[in-house]
Amino acid sequence: MQILCKLYKIKDMEDGEVLRILEEKGLPVTRQRLAILKKILEMGCHFTARDLHIALDESAKAVDLATVYRTLKAFEEAGLVTCVAEMGNCRYYSGTHAGVIPHAHFCCKGCGRLFCLPPLEVTASREIRSLEKMGFEVHQLVVTIEGLCAQCRRREEGK
Ligand SMILES: [Zn+2]
Ligand SMILES: [Zn+2]
Repeated sequence: MQILCKLYKIKDMEDGEVLRILEEKGLPVTRQRLAILKKILEMGCHFTARDLHIALDESAKAVDLATVYRTLKAFEEAGLVTCVAEMGNCRYYSGTHAGVIPHAHFCCKGCGRLFCLPPLEVTASREIRSLEKMGFEVHQLVVTIEGLCAQCRRREEGK
């Protein structure tokens, strides 16, 4: 199921392009913000602040964890990322850039893994359209199904 995520990754985006996205959102451009946004575009769906921190480290673009948290918060407010699930005090984010199709997630309460599900286009887009006709402004669609994954369920039953 997680295979879907790969489609959303954007590799090798030009720095200028990334800079333009920040400017469009009215966010002050810093070297760190550029590096973080570029990494988010590569990661697509879904990542935590820690995942992002590690990925930045690996690409020799180290940014301290507190800055990653702060920047994610600013990006969320600007609509560049969206929180797709929360487990304990861990938030899972997804980029909202072109190419990331809104989709639901399955969140396993046993192992904490998050699975991407196929897009919910049919029903959701119909509902969204009818809301818009009624004058509503739709910002985002977040659907998270919670439960136990097959592995965890087998483990539970084996107890
Ligand atoms: Zn599980
Ligand atoms: Zn996803």
